Amino acid sequence: MKAVGNGRHTSFWYDKWSSLGVMSEMLGERGFIAMGIRREATVAEALQRRRTRHRREILKQIDMELSHIAANQEVEGVGADDVDMWRWNSGYKPRFSTQETWRMTRVSAAQCDWGGSIWFSQATPKFAFRLAIRGRLATMDRVAVWSQGVDTTCVLCKRASETRNHLFFECSFSTQIWEPLMKGILRNSYSGKWEELISLLATSPMEKKKQFCFRYTLQATVYMLWRERNRRRHGEQPIHATVLTKHIDKAIRNKLSLVQSKGIGGLEVSLQYWFGLTDDLVDGLTDDLVDIMRRQWAMDIYKDWVVPVYVGEEMV
Ligand SMILES: [Zn+2]
Repeated sequence: MKAVGNGRHTSFWYDKWSSLGVMSEMLGERGFIAMGIRREATVAEALQRRRTRHRREILKQIDMELSHIAANQEVEGVGADDVDMWRWNSGYKPRFSTQETWRMTRVSAAQCDWGGSIWFSQATPKFAFRLAIRGRLATMDRVAVWSQGVDTTCVLCKRASETRNHLFFECSFSTQIWEPLMKGILRNSYSGKWEELISLLATSPMEKKKQFCFRYTLQATVYMLWRERNRRRHGEQPIHATVLTKHIDKAIRNKLSLVQSKGIGGLEVSLQYWFGLTDDLVDGLTDDLVDIMRRQWAMDIYKDWVVPVYVGEEMV
């Protein structure tokens, strides 16, 4: 599997860059003409061609996959190189493990590919957040458009269809995390509705420390929920909402300590502000306990927990 960056080192026809499969195997000899893409083309080249409207469902799906990549490039830039992704139990990763691959070939092919979603499982919070803003996360309502018969039920609450607005944060599971983190910050303007939150973010004047905590919590929560959703779709053990809340809280504390130590203007007081808001939030759930749970479930949540600081930079 290839994770496409700029697409220059990935063959459109012969590499597996899409969860749909290898294009040459799917479309055969007639594919070159049907798609209007030459045999030697890279994915980068395919992205640049003029689009034609296809009638066949499979061709439409392929175009959709290309659009995903184009969207990806739009947010990440086109500088990134393509990466070979190896199949691990928890999804595709850029690292190869013989042991893991061996294990994977031993299990029956019960694991499904969930469209483009696995590509985003390694995403930084910033990336997941931007895709969410643009409505481009591969939520099941969107996947269902090109992949008939998939189960669109939300894996977090199992009670509703999964859409972006459901995940962020109308879902009862998401609410369990979002509400305790956010109520103290937003008080009377508290909301769990995506559109309202984004409009609040864009239009409402706030004190700097408050705005920072709001933005950062929103970003981190979107990331954590998206990640938990991906984990569950790949059959991993669910993590309790309280533990996820604690993780987000801890990540924010770490970030605020960093901001404080760097003396970034106007944000030095944010840490005390955050402590004041959330100290009773995670009563009884000590760091030790979280660590034990983390080890038990072999979570790798901290691994790519690298978040940029936004100070006065437009995020949307
Ligand atoms: Zn739900």
